[in-house]
Amino acid sequence: MADTFRAYVVDEANGKYSGGFRQLTDADLPSYPVLVEVSYSSLNYKDGLAVTGKSKIARKLPMVCGIDLAGTVVESADPHFKAGDAVLVNGWGLSETEWGGYSARQRVNPNFLTRIPAAFTAQQAMAIGTAGYTAMLCVLALEEAGLTPDKGDVLVTGAAGGVGSVAVAVLAKLGYRVVAATGRPQTHDYLKSLGAADFVARADLDRAAKPLEKTLWAGAVDSVGSKTLVTLLAQTKDEGAVAACGLAGGVDLPGTVMPFILRGVKLLGINSVTASAQRRDKAWARLAKDLDKAKLDSMTVVEPLSNIEALAAQILRGETRGRIVIDVKR
Ligand code: NDP
Repeated sequence: MADTFRAYVVDEANGKYSGGFRQLTDADLPSYPVLVEVSYSSLNYKDGLAVTGKSKIARKLPMVCGIDLAGTVVESADPHFKAGDAVLVNGWGLSETEWGGYSARQRVNPNFLTRIPAAFTAQQAMAIGTAGYTAMLCVLALEEAGLTPDKGDVLVTGAAGGVGSVAVAVLAKLGYRVVAATGRPQTHDYLKSLGAADFVARADLDRAAKPLEKTLWAGAVDSVGSKTLVTLLAQTKDEGAVAACGLAGGVDLPGTVMPFILRGVKLLGINSVTASAQRRDKAWARLAKDLDKAKLDSMTVVEPLSNIEALAAQILRGETRGRIVIDVKR
């Protein structure tokens, strides 16, 4: 009998969406040319939505969850990869239209593969994961919009979450004065250790804003959306820029155009899923340079895949801190 391995799969039966562990063989995997032995995946907000079924992330079923994976190439019919290569995937539709990383083995489209930078182990690559790579996409976008540390404070919302923690650490290392917005005062010491200089309470932003308010921020990384994003836009300085990547607080945008047309504020949309290979390589190269590894380790816990259902519920309740690496073998 062919060797079996474990994967976490969501499926629908009798009109009911549910997830669970299944034993697969290589013959069950998609027909892509690169077979990867997966060592780690990670837990992102979107994984929480997919595993719990709170949003229909999977657009075809059955679907192996996990938007990230890191591991070693076992065999490749693609000339760009060979057995032993250390690779990762972030996004590219994993867990949506492509089978994902919550599986001990996966066959992958070579166009989706990024080489793990020499600076990182597979575990550290997943400590970064989609959340951390997205934080770096936000930083790149802010820099391209002209943000520099001398322009003023930078706000990070959802600061104790995955995107937020990496954004705080990277921006602080780059010399920015980082203000962290969090709904959990008990994370202040943690956020200080990552480089936050000051704090804003979540509730101070999650409210109805005036069209324009007192200017406070030269730039911002927002993983919350909704009223929080509208308030921080109303508080952004002339010609400042806001990178919007998330919806932890909601998908609406109940505001006005006044910050854009009277202050030249730039709202930068960030989509990590289909970012080009070139953009990904740039983000990963910058993470290797600008993310302190001791801080990365301090924001990370490793959890077994066997706990995935409890972890998925926790991230949606906003109870997880920093980044969670998923050990797919446990
Ligand atoms: P996390 O759950 O780790 O972080 C989200 C943080 O937001 C929480 O830790 C919490 O931080 C805060 N938060 C949670 N609930 C609320 C709420 N109701 N109102 C306001 N703040 C809240 O998730 P990730 O870091 O993995 O992802 C963050 C967001 O970014 C998600 O919406 C995710 O979908 C999105 N995302 C988008 C990507 C893209 O390509 N555009 C890629 C990656 C992520 P605190 O306790 O500090 O307030």
